[in-house]
Amino acid sequence: MTILLSLKDLTLYYRTRRGVVKAVDGVSFDIKEGSCLSLVGESGCGKSSMAYAIMRLLPRNTHTYRGVLLFDGRNLMDLSESDLRREFWLKRMAMVFQGAMNSLNPVLTIGEQLSEAFTIHAGLDKLEAQKRAAELLELVRLPRSLLNKYPHELSGGMKQRVVIAIALSLRPQLLILDEPTSALDVITQANIINLLKKLQEELNLTYIFITHDLSLSSELSDYIAVMYAGKVVELGDIRSILTDPKHPYTQKLLAATPRLLEDAKLEFIPGSPPDLASPPPGCRFHPRCPYVMDVCKNKVPNPVKVSSNHYVSCLLWERA
Ligand code: SF4
Repeated sequence: MTILLSLKDLTLYYRTRRGVVKAVDGVSFDIKEGSCLSLVGESGCGKSSMAYAIMRLLPRNTHTYRGVLLFDGRNLMDLSESDLRREFWLKRMAMVFQGAMNSLNPVLTIGEQLSEAFTIHAGLDKLEAQKRAAELLELVRLPRSLLNKYPHELSGGMKQRVVIAIALSLRPQLLILDEPTSALDVITQANIINLLKKLQEELNLTYIFITHDLSLSSELSDYIAVMYAGKVVELGDIRSILTDPKHPYTQKLLAATPRLLEDAKLEFIPGSPPDLASPPPGCRFHPRCPYVMDVCKNKVPNPVKVSSNHYVSCLLWERA
């Protein structure tokens, strides 16, 4: 598989009243074409900011934004906003935002909302755009009859399918999904995940799947990147992360995940994630880590390769 997206030292800081918030701090990894990488971690660890940084959708209070973002060999950092709009957004990369199903326009029909991408971005006439909108509904396994419905007439699962259809309208290669199932019941969640699997196969899509739910990520992912306090602390293929986690934070996350058939006691992670306006020095996990050493309070761990597809940023492994 070829590398579709390569991040090098990606950094995104925000200016806030509390000071500069280091939401994404020097993150590097590659994503192979046709694969799914899950970004997992607690709320506020920088997962969504990472998605915005990759899409180059930056808020007005951006303080620092730097790094290299190679998409199919082109550095997105070198492109102007109009270049991104013309060549990349929706056409090569798209995002399903958190809670997006609630942002469908209540006064426009589903057909009108699906057609917009074709009329505005692809310059199609209204009739052709409606035809393509109907095809999009079929792509996400919804009946064409929904074209004339309004969002309030649809269930949560149907609305989420419409949002996915809009994101896929111009056939992007990369789709970033920010908690796409968090507001849905478990049956609808399973249906959406199955749909995403089928779409990935049919369209050779590459996914970045953002979730705080490790068990859900295991359904869709080839790789998992575990984020803590703006940094990726562990990255590896799904099997090695789930069966042989190396980072103390990943181990704690897994121990805190309920299992249906095991009688294991659920653990919790003591303390809370740090304020990213003043993260702890050294390893950012050190105030909560059961294995903390003196050196962890000053030295920032670097990623260490522990097996062919598995990297961990922890001084225990750096020393080993
Ligand atoms: Fe724990 Fe130290 Fe490893 Fe951080 S570097 S996870 S504090 S052992």
